[in-house]
Amino acid sequence: MCVFCKIASGEIPSYKIYEDDNFLAFLDISQATIGHTLVIPKKHYDSIFDLEEETKIFNLVILLTKAIKKALNIDNVNILNNNGPLAGQSVNHFHIHIIPRYENDSVNFSFPKNELEKEAFINLSKKIIVSIEK
Ligand code: 5GP
Ligand code: ZN
Repeated sequence: MCVFCKIASGEIPSYKIYEDDNFLAFLDISQATIGHTLVIPKKHYDSIFDLEEETKIFNLVILLTKAIKKALNIDNVNILNNNGPLAGQSVNHFHIHIIPRYENDSVNFSFPKNELEKEAFINLSKKIIVSIEK
């Protein structure tokens, strides 16, 4: 059983902030910032690629993020979800990070700025549209 399945079943303790039949939200053991929360489906899915669309976890993330905003009096937050080792996923049980942001909190997400020719943009968007429609 994976570590988050053990947390979901209560075998490993956690600081829970929300629980229902299908989902659990608990404090990340490593608090990137104060209030850093993980939201998981109790059912094990390795990553977003396995998640069923009926899993309404994103609705719950909206609700919990607003609750955290109120509880911690924050106005800035990152929602993060890593899938696969190249994306930095270290626990292979689908989860969404809620990371409240504070002034000078030392968290730094930076994206490379890649330029693409217009033609490349057109081809890329066509490619993705086709694969969605399949
Ligand atoms: P990932 O890198 O897979 O997106 O995030 C996994 C997260 O799970 C990390 O931020 C890590 O601190 C957290 N984590 C790993 N093991 C445990 C644990 O046993 N309890 C809690 N509360 N968090 C954990
Ligand atoms: Zn699991």
